[in-house]
Amino acid sequence: MEQEKKTFQVPSVQDLLFQVGLSAEDLPEGLINGDQSYAEALYLLTRMRFGVDESICFWDEILRHHAGLNLILGRDVGIRVAVCDYFMNLHPKMRDPVIVEVQVLLQKEKGALVDELTGLYNRRYFNDAISREVERFKRFGQRFSLIMLDVDHFKRFNDTYGHLAGDDALKTVAQALRDTARTFDHVVRYGGEEFALILPHTDAAQAMAAAERMRCAVHSAPVLVQGGEVRVSVSLGAATFPEDAINARELVSRSDEALYEAKRTRNTVCSFSERNRRFPRSPINLVVVCTGAEAVASRPVTVTAMNVSFGGMLCLSQVPLLPGTQVEVALDMQVSHARGLSVAARVVRLERETEAGSYQVALSFDLGTQEQRRDLVRLVEMHHGEA
Ligand code: GH3
Ligand code: MG
Ligand code: MG
Repeated sequence: MEQEKKTFQVPSVQDLLFQVGLSAEDLPEGLINGDQSYAEALYLLTRMRFGVDESICFWDEILRHHAGLNLILGRDVGIRVAVCDYFMNLHPKMRDPVIVEVQVLLQKEKGALVDELTGLYNRRYFNDAISREVERFKRFGQRFSLIMLDVDHFKRFNDTYGHLAGDDALKTVAQALRDTARTFDHVVRYGGEEFALILPHTDAAQAMAAAERMRCAVHSAPVLVQGGEVRVSVSLGAATFPEDAINARELVSRSDEALYEAKRTRNTVCSFSERNRRFPRSPINLVVVCTGAEAVASRPVTVTAMNVSFGGMLCLSQVPLLPGTQVEVALDMQVSHARGLSVAARVVRLERETEAGSYQVALSFDLGTQEQRRDLVRLVEMHHGEA
């Protein structure tokens, strides 16, 4: 891999950005160092997403093409022209590109991601932002939390004060959340009278503290209605990645479960992890190899994993593996490249599946390191099974 990269004539990211007329601030936070920046710089110019290695290769060719164009035309045509010609004519990836000033584009893009009533980000932004946080965990091992939040008795509020006052109340809630959140938190109107907060770099205890701050802020913000001012309250549910869920969809449903719990009392906060000490299980469909099972004469046993967590997995096996047996489980050799995700496990339960004639085997292990957990998150993403 290193060998291949050395043959490219790609300058450092800083130099490249300078040539393109971009600055480090244009890249997403934390991306200025590292090869991912080459992909980000291409995205900024083309709005096309490429892998890192592919991007380095493209940049190499684009820069050569740029030099060639300059030579032929006897003037500097600029990298953008070279990029456009490259992706239209040399390596066609764009058919009908539109030329637009970057500020106009950014404004339009932002508009598509913002909720009109409250000025908060919308659901579309939410989906991107949560995926970005999962990516960030996979790259840097940085956990994050999600808070889902729902206005209490809002139907009654609308019925009592009218829909327009209801809209004002939603704006008030939005403002209270915005004022209380940190600058790098993502505050979103999830839909109707539901809001979501993505809190980067935040563990379960910190998320609970933030949720409580949000609850107080909303409850103490007056909403003007005919004849005076009233207060609304919100219920909040928090969950943390990857402790409570190992993909974005599940994290939303874990926060929802906590919110549902909070709704039993209303005007309260609830944390998924504080109610559930066990690791979450994710459906998965993956063939894994168990070695060292004395019960089957030390031959490797191939089983199909059905669900998995940081603490163990449930598998289907054609042969019985007896409880108490120690095995080495190779979860997937490709996911973490040369290392492979291999872990020492113990069989804790064996049940015969009457119809298929196969066995359900429960294995217990401990993916204790952040690196192992990141590998499992990647695996679940690649082999997600039916829930
Ligand atoms: P709970 O405490 O269980 O959440 O009760 P609730 O009344 O808030 O929940 P329900 O889901 O029954 O009602 C939600 C209400 O929110 C109904 C809907 O009309 C109102 N709503 C959703 N979006 C808007 C909006 O944009 N403006 C206004 N004014 N009301 C909205
Ligand atoms: Mg609701
Ligand atoms: Mg509600």
